[in-house]
Amino acid sequence: MATHTVDVYAFFFNGANSSTNISRIEQDISKANSAWKGCTKFVLEGAYFNEDKIVNAGSIPSDGVFKNRQMDSLIKFARNVTGNKIGIYVFYLNGDFLAEGKGRKVVGASTTEVGYFESSTNYELFGHIVLTDKAAGRYTFAHECGHVLFKRYSETRNMFIHDDPSGPYINFQTGKRDPAHNSDQKNLMFPISPSVNPIVTSQQCQIAKQSKIVRNNIDKYYDYYDFRNT
Ligand SMILES: [Zn+2]
Repeated sequence: MATHTVDVYAFFFNGANSSTNISRIEQDISKANSAWKGCTKFVLEGAYFNEDKIVNAGSIPSDGVFKNRQMDSLIKFARNVTGNKIGIYVFYLNGDFLAEGKGRKVVGASTTEVGYFESSTNYELFGHIVLTDKAAGRYTFAHECGHVLFKRYSETRNMFIHDDPSGPYINFQTGKRDPAHNSDQKNLMFPISPSVNPIVTSQQCQIAKQSKIVRNNIDKYYDYYDFRNT
């Protein structure tokens, strides 16, 4: 059976000590693995700590997290550290919320960057996730991983999309459709991720498994030859 593995690289700029941060990433990975159980497996491949380098979440606007120059330099730094390894890069920032952009209290954000692009089936992706201190103990990391893994090239639409295949979320007050999210409150991809046992649908799982960020480890079977009679 093939396993679908996602490599995770963690970068801490939250000022917490390394043992606190190790428990933090272990908790996030374990929550992601419980939410995505039987689908994709998240593995911590590297963690970078620097207690002296603190980045305040409040200095990054929630409506332009990845257009922010400070974030851009953190991502460049991280990619340099790993030597551009494919995976999900998670950045832990100091403070409870990102700076208010849309007037919401945002504790997590993500984007999926396209590396090389040869064709609609041959391209490279890197996932980037930002988390604040308030995202701790929740399924925020698991939810943001969903956004990252849903990014794919749509042949029919001739563009990259990151729609939730079980979506969209429809705001019943405004009637606004949000294709990236889910309308089921129990689903991991509901705009505010559930705090207990989030659901991942089989369609969501199928799309996530096909992400270019996922590594397929196909178990090897060896044939044994018996040479005695030859
Ligand atoms: Zn979301």
